[in-house]
Amino acid sequence: MIQISNHMPTKELQALDAAHHMHPFTAGNELAEKGVRVITRANGVTLTDSEGNEILDAMAGLWCVNIGYGREELAEVAARQMRELPYYNTFFQTTHVPAIALANRLAELAPGDLNHVFFAGSGSEANDTNMRMVRTYWAQKGKPEKQIIISRKNAYHGSTMGGASLGGMTPMHAQGGLPIPGIHHIDQPNWWAEGGDMSPEEFGLARARALEEAILELGEDKVAAFIAEPVQGAGGVIVPPETYWPEIQRICDKYEILLIADEVICGFGRTGQWFGSQTMGIRPHIMTIAKGLSSGYAPIGGSIVCDEVAEVIGACEFNHGYTYSGHPVAAAVALENLRILDEEKIVETCGAETAPYLKQKWEALADHPLVGEARIVGMMGSIALTPDKASRARFASDPGTIGLICRERCFANNLVMRHVGDRMIISPPLVISKSEIDALIERASRALDECLAQATKDGLMVAAS
Ligand SMILES: *Cc1c(COP(=O)(O)O)cnc(C)c1O
Repeated sequence: MIQISNHMPTKELQALDAAHHMHPFTAGNELAEKGVRVITRANGVTLTDSEGNEILDAMAGLWCVNIGYGREELAEVAARQMRELPYYNTFFQTTHVPAIALANRLAELAPGDLNHVFFAGSGSEANDTNMRMVRTYWAQKGKPEKQIIISRKNAYHGSTMGGASLGGMTPMHAQGGLPIPGIHHIDQPNWWAEGGDMSPEEFGLARARALEEAILELGEDKVAAFIAEPVQGAGGVIVPPETYWPEIQRICDKYEILLIADEVICGFGRTGQWFGSQTMGIRPHIMTIAKGLSSGYAPIGGSIVCDEVAEVIGACEFNHGYTYSGHPVAAAVALENLRILDEEKIVETCGAETAPYLKQKWEALADHPLVGEARIVGMMGSIALTPDKASRARFASDPGTIGLICRERCFANNLVMRHVGDRMIISPPLVISKSEIDALIERASRALDECLAQATKDGLMVAAS
């Protein structure tokens, strides 16, 4: 057996990776040809790759490393917990201290009467739990017909059969026989791309009322729940118009529909408050959590459930659970992460100081000739690339062509920024400092300049007809 380590030449690591490692959301053969980037270590907001490049991670990994990389305390807690109790389950009338402590802490942090936690290993698993839980809830209440879950096009709720079906990603639905039955997708509140001649406010109301129309069409007695991200993340950081969420809340209140807020990205400070539901002023019955819960240091997710739903579910045996539900090491790491977020006032500082600073600089990117709108909430932002701002035009080239060029120019400038089609998105660690924000903006601007130059040279600055 070969000893594989950080000290091997990049080329060898790339070849070994290509030989045996299948990557998520990746055209494997194409990547093998090109050579994967090997990340060797990270600290704060900075990644180091096997070539020694230092890269500003404006995505916090996959939206998750909220407290930044390299926190020793989390490593210490994990080691201590592994020595004391590395594993035990919570299935058969047993529990352990990390699960008790984390559930209690989450009940304190979560708004309203969201007081009960069902643990999972990831956000996808938690959304699978939610699907089964809301349907079981209505069955227990004597309304077994209430089964349909309404979700949104271009939403992301995970990659399991349930999660990907709840999600509204067409390329995902095109593979593996999705979506599974019982899920209905309505249009998203993406004003820039779909708002036409409406003002953002009118459009926000119209897209919220699509929920009411769907409920009336499907039948109130058939609909179990509506699920949505407070701010769509993987869909391109789509910040809804201000009129959207109040109208959604009104509709959920009026009809007997459970509201599930998928807080996997928005939770734990991302929007400048502890939960996106607080930023958007909504009162969900269930919140999906993962990612920032442990800042990505350990895989853990869960559902935070309101008193009423927990009471009804508690009255039956809920035949559902994961081997790693409430895993003691992951729970201990999450608890320590929450302690740091709280005691170091990371969420407060982000909300009051660094996020407003970033907002000002980010929104100024809209002056760039390649940028249409620039939107940001807390520490999640996006810019729409366009060949013509005035008409909010799309490019004539295949969606993502310009976005990919821009992402490559970001990488070349030691910045990780992701593209969703021709939208560029950021979600940096919440601990990013003002000088690091300056560096982020400076590198992003340079990447935009270079992208514009290349797109112009290649004759790509053409609007779709
Ligand atoms: C990432 C994500 C998920 C899925 O979480 P995993 O841990 O990858 O399974 C679900 N919902 C949202 C909003 C996400 O961003």
